[in-house]
Amino acid sequence: MSSMACRRRIFLKICQNPSFCSTQCYASRSFTTETCNSPETNTDGAQKHQYNYTGRRYVSKMYQNLGNIYPESSKLVCQSHKLFLYANIIQQCHVGGYNLLPLGQRVQDKLVKIIDQELERIGCQKMSMTTLAPAKFWKKTGRWDAMGNELFRLTDRKRIEFCLGPTHEEVITNILATGPLLSYKRLPMKMYQITRKFRDENSPKYGFLRSREFDMKDLYTFDASLEEATETYHTVCTAYKQILDRLGLDYDIVTGSTGNIGGSISHEFQIRADIGEDTIHVCKKCGFGANAETTEAKNKICSENPCELSVSSSIEVGHSFLLGTKYSEHFAAKCINKDANKNLYQMGCYGLGVSRIMQACVEVLSTEKKIVWPQLLAPYQFCIIPLESKRECLSIAESLSDELNKRSGLSGEVVIDDRDKKVTFRLFGAKAIGYPYIITVKDKALQDNAEFEVINTRNDDSTFMTLDQIMDMASTIQTV
Ligand SMILES: [Zn+2]
Repeated sequence: MSSMACRRRIFLKICQNPSFCSTQCYASRSFTTETCNSPETNTDGAQKHQYNYTGRRYVSKMYQNLGNIYPESSKLVCQSHKLFLYANIIQQCHVGGYNLLPLGQRVQDKLVKIIDQELERIGCQKMSMTTLAPAKFWKKTGRWDAMGNELFRLTDRKRIEFCLGPTHEEVITNILATGPLLSYKRLPMKMYQITRKFRDENSPKYGFLRSREFDMKDLYTFDASLEEATETYHTVCTAYKQILDRLGLDYDIVTGSTGNIGGSISHEFQIRADIGEDTIHVCKKCGFGANAETTEAKNKICSENPCELSVSSSIEVGHSFLLGTKYSEHFAAKCINKDANKNLYQMGCYGLGVSRIMQACVEVLSTEKKIVWPQLLAPYQFCIIPLESKRECLSIAESLSDELNKRSGLSGEVVIDDRDKKVTFRLFGAKAIGYPYIITVKDKALQDNAEFEVINTRNDDSTFMTLDQIMDMASTIQTV
C-alpha cells in the first residue's frame, strides 16, 4: 500500500479531494487532477474530473528519439552538425539544405523571441520583404554582377529576372525611396525581418554553419545625418551584445571587412570555435580585435608597442555595417533634414545568423554525445522519465508534468518520456537532446515521503528532491 500513500501525498498538493484522487487519478491517461477540487457529476451520477489541461506531451507520440545511430566521426567532423542529426534537431534534405525538425523549430522560435524582445526594446519594427528580389534593383547597385555565383538567380514566365534574396538592402531602400518623404523628426527608422535567406555556397558544410538556405535576421536603419546614423549603429550593437549575453555565450566583437555590402564601419560578432572558418586577431593587452581579412589586423599598435595578438578560429554570428549613402544614392532615397532640405538617407545594416547562432551555441557548449543548450533556448526545460514497469509511476509523472505546466513560464516546457524502454536507455536519449532537467520517477517516488531524482544535465549533478523542492527549483527557471 505504500504506493497509495505516495499518490495521496502528491495529489494532496494538487487536489483538495485526495481520497477521490487516489481511486481515480491514475485510472486513465486522459485524467488530470487540475480541477478536481470541484468534481462534477456525470449524467449517470458518477463523479468525473474536468479535463481542462491537454498539454501533456508524450515522447511516444512525438517526432524525436527515433533511434538514430550516432554518425561516426569518419564522415562528419563538425560536432554540432553530428549532434543535430543524431538528436533529430535537423534533417538533411539536399546538400546545404536542412529541414528543421520539431525540436529544432522550438529552439529557433525561442531564439527569435529573444531577438524580437531586444530589437523592440530599441524601437525596431518587424516586417517582411519579398524573397524574390527583382534583378533591376540589384543591377542599380551593381551587386547583380558583383555577387557572382553566390546569388540564386531565376527568371519568370515573362523573362523577368529575379534573385532569391540573400540580403535586402536594395529592396528596403526602394521602399523608402518610393514612399512619402519622411521628416528627420520621424527618424531613425529601424526595420527588420527574420526570414529565409539563400546563398549558393560553393562548398556547403557543417550543417547550418555553412548552408545554402538559412534563417537570418536583417535590420536596416535610416537616419538624416551621419552623426545620428553612427549613434544608431552603436545602439544596435548594444542590443546585439544583449542578445548574445542572454544566451550566456562568450563572444568577441572585432573590426570586420565591409566586403560586397560596403560602408565605412563594420563589426563582426564572433564565437571562437575550432571548426569556425573565420580567423580573428584579438589583443590580450588592449582588447582590440579584427578579422584577419582586414588591414587593421596587421600592424596594430597599443601602448607604443605592437599588440599581443592571439589568433583564433571563430564562427561569425553577427555583422554590422555603417553604410552611409551607398544604397540611398542609387535609389535617390531621401528624407527632409533639419534645414528643410532633402538629403540622402544615412543607412546601416545589421545581420544575425539565426540558424547559425543555434548551431554555434551547441558547437561551443556541448560534449561529444550530449547537447548543451543555452538555458533559454532548450527545446523543453523538463523531461520526466517514469519507471516503465510500474503503471503508478506514469500517473505520478503525468501529475508532476501538470504541476510544472501550471508554473508561469513553464507551460508547454515539459515532456514525458513514456516509451516502454529501460530508464537508463531513455536517460541517454534525454541527455543527447539536452533538456536542462531530467526527472526520473522510480521506486522512491512511490514511498510515503516521495522523492524524485532530478538531473541537472549541464553538470550531470543528480539530487533527490521532494515535490516541494522541485517546485521551488522550477520557480527559478527563466524562459522566454
Ligand atoms: Zn593591443
